[in-house]
Amino acid sequence: MRAIQLHRAESLPEIREVAVPEPEAGQVLVKVAGAGVCHSDLHIMETPGAMGRPLPFTLGHECTGWVAAMGPGVTGLSAGEPVAVYAAWGCGLCRHCAQGRENYCTRLDELGIEQPGLGRDGAMADYMIVDSPRHLVPLGDLDPVDSAPLTDAALTPYHAIKRSLGKLWAGSTAVVIGVGGLGHMAVQILRAITPAQVIALDIAEEKLELAKASGAHLAMRADPGAVEEIRAVTGGLGAQLVLDFVGASTTVELAVPLCAIDGDLTLIGIGAGVVPVGFGTTNYAVNVATPYWGTRPELIEVLDLARRGAIKVRVERFPLGEALHVYDLLGRGKINGRAVLVPGG
Ligand code: NAD
Ligand code: ZN
Ligand code: ZN
Repeated sequence: MRAIQLHRAESLPEIREVAVPEPEAGQVLVKVAGAGVCHSDLHIMETPGAMGRPLPFTLGHECTGWVAAMGPGVTGLSAGEPVAVYAAWGCGLCRHCAQGRENYCTRLDELGIEQPGLGRDGAMADYMIVDSPRHLVPLGDLDPVDSAPLTDAALTPYHAIKRSLGKLWAGSTAVVIGVGGLGHMAVQILRAITPAQVIALDIAEEKLELAKASGAHLAMRADPGAVEEIRAVTGGLGAQLVLDFVGASTTVELAVPLCAIDGDLTLIGIGAGVVPVGFGTTNYAVNVATPYWGTRPELIEVLDLARRGAIKVRVERFPLGEALHVYDLLGRGKINGRAVLVPGG
């Protein structure tokens, strides 16, 4: 089968021909329907040492597919069943994992656990191994290809927004910086589960259009002028939640003065920006957080939101073999919504 593999740090992935893996005891072989293309892959490719990931591995951590085969001892699934992969694998046993918060597993290093597409073989291939049926969620009648980004591009902002629900009352404001794969889903999720006014910022005109199409009340260019404008439309209060999906020093500089007293400043983009917290820098009682991915129960909730039509990923489909072209487009900001690689077409 074909696999898009990263073999060396600071270089591009390669298309390799590899054997279809065999599921061992407890594992599930999934035939990949769609593999979403996340900006995090670019960070891994570009960072010296590949951010500490063991190479080589097959990329792709946003995945949907069909159960193809089950290793000995696997029950509760049937061949051909459409599934979403929960790829934030943890040990399953620690305090966080016991609550379904495998994204915050505390035993990854101790047990040498790597996550698919981020350090062990992932979804950019015809087939992938899932280590446990626990990491599969039935898709039901959701589109098997277009649902792939729900497992990260929607799950990650959903997790980040849910933490702040108590602050998003009627009349509150949430700001989304960076309306890419994650950001356009954040706008939709905010509209679906909160009464907040949603303001989106980006540097590209077509992303501002996407923000409006996704339900943003206001969309404006991410430049220093946005701070005054947002202060004005919030009656001087600022935003109760600022979600930064870029996380660069420039966007962090924008995010800090946007945050209302007692607001949440949530960094999701891993652009190496740092928030200086202290009197005179951040507003009074601002909470700064760097959440990672989302929980297993939250993935079920996200799929439910999609099933009732409250959120919908704007997908650009590409054949698996065009992965390098897609990474190039993503790096140049030319994907509007989320690219999904489709091994079957
Ligand atoms: P993307 O490339 O699809 O979207 C990025 C968006 O930011 C684009 O619309 C781009 O135009 C916009 N942008 C770039 N520079 C900007 C600036 N200075 N001001 C305003 N907007 C700007 O990326 P994505 O796949 O949505 O990922 C977004 C970030 O989130 C990446 O850094 C990624 O690594 C990170 N991420 C984090 C987690 C987590 O768990 N914390 C999970 C997934 C992705
Ligand atoms: Zn990702
Ligand atoms: Zn754990």
